[in-house]
Amino acid sequence: MKSYVFPGDIAPRIAAIGSEPFIYMRTDAFSQINKESERMLLDLIHCKGGRTIIYTGSGTGAMSAVVENYVSTKQKAFVIDGGSFGHRWFQLCEYYGIPVFDFKVPFAKDIDYTLLEQKVASEKPDVFLCQHHETSSGQLFDLEKISDICHRYGVSLVVDVISTFLAEPLDMGALDIDICITSTQKGLNIPPGLSILFFSPKLDGYTFNHKGYYWDFDDNFANLKRGQTPFSPATILYLQLHVRLNQLVEEGGENKNIADVRHRALHFRALCQKYGWNVPAENPSYAITGFQTKDTADRVIFKGLIEEYDTYIMPGGIPGFYRVSHMGLQSDEDLDRLAAAIHEFEQTL
Ligand SMILES: *Cc1c(COP(=O)(O)O)cnc(C)c1O
Repeated sequence: MKSYVFPGDIAPRIAAIGSEPFIYMRTDAFSQINKESERMLLDLIHCKGGRTIIYTGSGTGAMSAVVENYVSTKQKAFVIDGGSFGHRWFQLCEYYGIPVFDFKVPFAKDIDYTLLEQKVASEKPDVFLCQHHETSSGQLFDLEKISDICHRYGVSLVVDVISTFLAEPLDMGALDIDICITSTQKGLNIPPGLSILFFSPKLDGYTFNHKGYYWDFDDNFANLKRGQTPFSPATILYLQLHVRLNQLVEEGGENKNIADVRHRALHFRALCQKYGWNVPAENPSYAITGFQTKDTADRVIFKGLIEEYDTYIMPGGIPGFYRVSHMGLQSDEDLDRLAAAIHEFEQTL
């Protein structure tokens, strides 16, 4: 099988952990693993002196946790709604009854930052929620510009970096972001099931809300002091995360990983050009390539790849629009074969 979805093909050494016996979580050994993972994660995102919470749950669980515990302490939220993931922030605010301004950005377009600043000035939010990369289209947003605007107007910044952590350069400290979110099945390239919150040291001592029993920040922080979790963690995933983090560091850290992702993206985009597939994102992230094919009726390419090549790519929200992740293991030759197969199915249309 070849996988170009999330998390893509994962390293055999990581996958093998899933079939091995695993330790009991209420032990010092588990606590130590958890604490080491926290330290390595904070280093990778440049969040000096910060804290993490690792949840057993997918990325949306962590987004929900942020709204329950933090956004709900604010008067008004401002959301960048540039696709299905941005819209999720909006829906979460609505769900919890938090006043929210929904700043819509057209599919695959960058933000109009001048208009954004005007809206922030007139709407006067006190918390700003966005994605670094709107994974539904492939569009990357400019966090430096967003961070500048937030700081000029005194707005707390929360960024979903789920699909850019370890795929795009990201310095949480320099960007002065209050909370970042990621999860295991994207840049970390291990199975889905854990999500990670990064907290700036500026939030030390902050009075969080208690609006969700399972995701409660204070309960998690209290347990984490001894490297523990309030409830049963997905122990195997914690072990895979720990080994993967060590592997990342051994292999040259985040810069090496980011360079590899970029190489694969550029290689695949040259193939898109060769076969005449448009990449609609105005400023595409290297994490994935979203491209438009002629396959607008029956998902012939998607189904054909599974049936004939045991290969997975991601269909998008628009007919004929597909996405290929560059965050898993993939060689230039793999991508050559993938593009040739997509072209082959397209020719039959
Ligand atoms: C994958 C992803 C999520 C989380 O989705 P889950 O299915 O809950 O893991 C959230 N935001 C972005 C930008 C993503 O790419």
